[in-house]
Amino acid sequence: MNLTLINNKFNEKFGATGEMFTSPGRINLIGEHTDYNGGFVFPGAIDKGMVAEIKLNGTDKVRAYSVDLNDYAEFGLNEEDAPSQSWARYIFGVCREIQKRGGKIAGFDTAFSGDVPLGAGMSSSAALESTFANALNELFSLGIDRFELARIGQSTEHNYCGVKCGIMDQFASVFGKAGHLMRLDCRSMEFEYFPFDPEQHGYKLVLLDSVVKHELVGSPYNDRRASCERVAAVLGREFLRGATMEDLEAVREKISEEDYKRARYVIGEEQRVLDVCEALKRDDYETVGKRMYETHWGMSRDYEVSCEELDFLATVAEECGVAGSRIMGGGFGGCTINLVRTELYDNFIATAKAKFAAKYGHEPKVYSVVISDGARRL
Ligand code: ADP
Ligand code: MG
Repeated sequence: MNLTLINNKFNEKFGATGEMFTSPGRINLIGEHTDYNGGFVFPGAIDKGMVAEIKLNGTDKVRAYSVDLNDYAEFGLNEEDAPSQSWARYIFGVCREIQKRGGKIAGFDTAFSGDVPLGAGMSSSAALESTFANALNELFSLGIDRFELARIGQSTEHNYCGVKCGIMDQFASVFGKAGHLMRLDCRSMEFEYFPFDPEQHGYKLVLLDSVVKHELVGSPYNDRRASCERVAAVLGREFLRGATMEDLEAVREKISEEDYKRARYVIGEEQRVLDVCEALKRDDYETVGKRMYETHWGMSRDYEVSCEELDFLATVAEECGVAGSRIMGGGFGGCTINLVRTELYDNFIATAKAKFAAKYGHEPKVYSVVISDGARRL
């Protein structure tokens, strides 16, 4: 990240020097479509994020400059002052959500820039929200706890950006810790850190972005959710979380084949997250990788949220001897996340690029990531 560029732009725009804050994007190693089933997700913060220089300006106005978009916005802190630019609404939303929680804030100047690729599934928006939530909390000594900072980001998306997201992205961006992933229980909101340091054990983590996003008719997301709720109801549970494969087999006759397969994926995914956490306690990265493949093919064949391009990337990974590969995110496009032995890395990337380009006419984008710290002052 080019801090000097931000400093120069800030100085140019505001003729001063501010304080520096940063927050990261995130990956999710395993645990997909588990959040709304009351299950686990297993994210970590990455070495790509947002950096903002901020200085209080003694007025009741925010003056914000986006270095990457070369765009400027100025807005007040009342509900009717919402800026028109969508990027500025993230900052405005964070200010509003802090105020709704009783936080007293005032105007500030800021210039910011980020290196989380937009819309690639690494949550550039959470990085942006967490940067400002954390910075304002510190600059105004608000004493907001870290979980509430994550909720402020989530509410910003809900109330100011029209995105009904869960808490995982903001949670990971705030709580991230280098060398660790976080298993978040989406039912109790409790979480636990697990050591995850692939570089130390001869592996790299890399995302391959298919750069496709399939537009789908109907609502496959709501559809999957409804299946899960139906099976949970037949099982007499609030969530599929906690149900076993035996429980599912026992009601197989009472549910549709489609619902059965979807529930089988979710119940399997629950166990895979737990298996991966256990494996990491033994530094057993090969088992981690095997579970990633199982998730991929479960998402593809049982949950039916994959697509041709993502299946192709996972298959190339298997052929190249990559330890683990799977769809990251909801599916139907986006990235695969890959755990690769260091000595296989160059060949894997070259092969995946060449084969994908030969078939689909463009190369996947490659993002190598390292698990890093969460929201902080620089
Ligand atoms: P993602 O999956 O990366 O979070 P979103 O669509 O949720 O994608 O958020 C992307 C939006 O966040 C952008 O359209 C922009 O408004 C804002 N954003 C992200 N990164 C930056 C940046 N570096 N500079 C300005 N705005 C950004
Ligand atoms: Mg987002």
